[in-house]
Amino acid sequence: MNKPLVLVVEDDSAIRNLITTTLETHNYKHITASSGETALLEAVSHNPEVVLLDLGLPDTDGVNVIKKIRSWSNMPIIVISARSEESDKIEALDAGADDYLTKPFSVEELLARLRVTFRRLNYSAANTGRENAVFENGDLSIDYAAGCVYMKGEELHLTPIEYKLLCLLAKNAGKVLTHSYITREVWGSSWDNDVASLRVFMATLRKKIEKDTSEPQYIQTHVGVGYRMLRI
Ligand code: CA
Repeated sequence: MNKPLVLVVEDDSAIRNLITTTLETHNYKHITASSGETALLEAVSHNPEVVLLDLGLPDTDGVNVIKKIRSWSNMPIIVISARSEESDKIEALDAGADDYLTKPFSVEELLARLRVTFRRLNYSAANTGRENAVFENGDLSIDYAAGCVYMKGEELHLTPIEYKLLCLLAKNAGKVLTHSYITREVWGSSWDNDVASLRVFMATLRKKIEKDTSEPQYIQTHVGVGYRMLRI
């Protein structure tokens, strides 16, 4: 198999070296950029499989880089943020980033995020061109045409909102979706009250699909940020 190409955008050379060394020892190819402008040039000319993007760049905010890349490409973008404020991550995710890492991060965390992203890429590559009438993930399956959800072949009874929520997560499996994105998609608005309702519906949905709600297998919580359906 060809080694996947990762574009590393980071102006801090120590962190950039840590990332590139990790990539080299784990069978990834890489190219690097230390500003937003070079990042865009490299992204256009090399079309990498994944972009690792620092948000605090010398010439521009990383969020602007995400917006520009999203105007022509769906390549996965994993944001690396030194800022611990949730709002930066949320802004980046809402601009179209797929996932995030918070500095300082471990090599294991970085590799885990890359694995999640490549699992999603491989899955969508295997399914392009096919009309996905049925979503399958582990023991969970959703028959979109019939509007039915099954766990190990047994039909689950979901409320319309739980169903909408599950379909949204399933269609974006592998991606972290923010609270405001989900509430806008499900309710058409995004008030604090909607986020509170989202928690309630998420809890009832999980009771129906997770074996152990204290250790959810399908839907991961990102505290203060949102939720993600994991590809099993
Ligand atoms: Ca930086």
